[in-house]
Parts: sequence; C-alpha cells; structure tokens
Amino acid sequence: MSYLSREERLQKNNDTSLLEQGSRSIIVFLLNYRRRNESRHGYGRVATYAGFPDYHIFFPRIIDEFMVDNGMFVRDYRSYVDTGPVLERNIASSSNLGWIGKNSMLISPSVGSFTFIGSAVTDLPVDSSLFPTPDSCGNCTRCIDSCPTGAISMNRTVDSNLCISYHTIENRGIIPRNVTDRMGEMIFGCDICNDVCPWNRDKMESTLHEVSESSFFNRMKLEEIAFIDKESFDRTYRGSAIKRATFGGFARNAIIALHNAGEESLLKEVTKQFTDVRMDQAISLLSGHV
Ligand code: SF4
Ligand code: SF4
Repeated sequence: MSYLSREERLQKNNDTSLLEQGSRSIIVFLLNYRRRNESRHGYGRVATYAGFPDYHIFFPRIIDEFMVDNGMFVRDYRSYVDTGPVLERNIASSSNLGWIGKNSMLISPSVGSFTFIGSAVTDLPVDSSLFPTPDSCGNCTRCIDSCPTGAISMNRTVDSNLCISYHTIENRGIIPRNVTDRMGEMIFGCDICNDVCPWNRDKMESTLHEVSESSFFNRMKLEEIAFIDKESFDRTYRGSAIKRATFGGFARNAIIALHNAGEESLLKEVTKQFTDVRMDQAISLLSGHV
C-alpha cells in the first residue's frame, strides 16, 4: 500500500512541476506478475509480488529496453516505478488501460490486477485518442466482503489503519490487536482483495524471466525470522521487496504469526533477548493489550 501515501502526498502538493521541462507525454506500462503464490505453512505468507525480485530494480530496466527497442532512445525520457511525480494508476485508468476497482487497485480487463505499474515521461509527441476504461465492478462487493479487517469502504477507500498490507510493510511500531488477530500467517503484504476479484480469474501467468527464475518465498521459517539479525536479513533478502519492511518489522510480523499459531513460549524468549519493536510487539501480544 505504499503507493497510497505517495499518491496522497502528490495529490496534496499537486506536484506536476516535478515533471521535466519539455515533457509532452507519459507512457504507462503494466507488467503482469501473476503467478502461483508459493508461500508454505510454517514459513509465513508473503504477497505474491514480494516472492520475486524487487520490481523497483528490474522494471525500470524493462522500460528502458522498451524505449530503446522502439527507437525512442533518441528522445529525452525518464522512467519511474513508484518513485516519481507521476500518478501512474490514475493516468492508466484515464487511458483505457483499466479502471480503479473498489479495492483501489488498477484492474486491467485483459490481465487483471496482478500488475506492476511504471511510466516513462518523454518529450515524444505521442498521439493519443485514449479514453477512460468503464468501471466494471458493477454490483460486486467481493473485496469489501472478504477483507479480513474491514478496511475497504463502499466509497473505494482503503483505511490504512486497518490494512494488513500497510501494517506489515510500512508500520514501524506495534501493530494493533484488531489487525494482528486477522493476520494469520501473513508476514509481508496481503493479496486477499486481489485474490477474490473475479477479474483475476483465468488470466494468463507472467512470462517474465525475473518473475519465474528466482524466489524469495520460504527462505526462512517463522521461528528463524523472529530471531533474525540485520546481517542475516540483508543477506537473505538482498534484491527483494521484503527489505522494505526492515528486519525489525519483518521479525515483528513473524512474531505475530507465531502468536496466532499459539507459540507463546517463543514470544517469551523474544522478550528476554531483544529490546526492539519485536519485543514491544511480543509483550503487547502476551499481555493481551492493543
Ligand atoms: S484485503 Fe488485505 S490488502 Fe486488501 S484492504 Fe484488506 S487488509 Fe488490505
Ligand atoms: S472484487 Fe469486485 S468490487 Fe472488488 S475490485 Fe474486484 S470487481 Fe471490483
């Protein structure tokens, strides 16, 4: 959910001045990362995209290759993936690439919502006669009904205070009990509002080499993650989006998963060995407080 805070910030600042001088067009790219989630019981569940190498690293290269292969290298351009002044999701939805669903994800009619979104800001005079994609959520409320914490409202907003994805990735403190109780084995992100969406049914799997070749699923058991140190975390998850959670946050998430599995003795051990956020989380879980 990191894009939400970024979008809120950009909308607030209306920061279009960050776009390069002379920019005339924004090309938006959707990259299909749909593939079976290989998270295994006892190792914690990570969101599908985080099982693969960090897209912030390989996606810009794909955009650059596209621009070169299509002769656009003679033009000035800059590529962005989640980092720049471009609200790719909004531009994509106004350019017939998909609509923004009730779960706040961009949904492409052809590939669904398991997509990374990137962009190239260019001085190319791209002729565009594109139009917004019609909203095709209709009467469906599956994502709203299935969200374990009730984070999604009918008005298409996701409350980050209730969202498991937000808490497991961005929250640096203690995760509140009304969320931890619903996390099960989730230790990085949450795919539920994507998984249940009918527009993700029967869509083709990703053929990306980066997605198919290496995997960050099941690298360590929950017990190991709970006691992990920074060096092991950096070594094990180098090149993975999981690093965004920081080693303390990731360990905290594993502690919650262990608590949900009834492993209270491990939580007591954590409170003796550490003085960081995992200790605070373990104490709060053991005491039954928020
Ligand atoms: S289903 Fe998961 S990711 Fe989606 S809004 Fe709810 S908690 Fe967040
Ligand atoms: S699950 Fe239904 S309501 Fe939610 S985004 Fe998909 S189509 Fe829209």
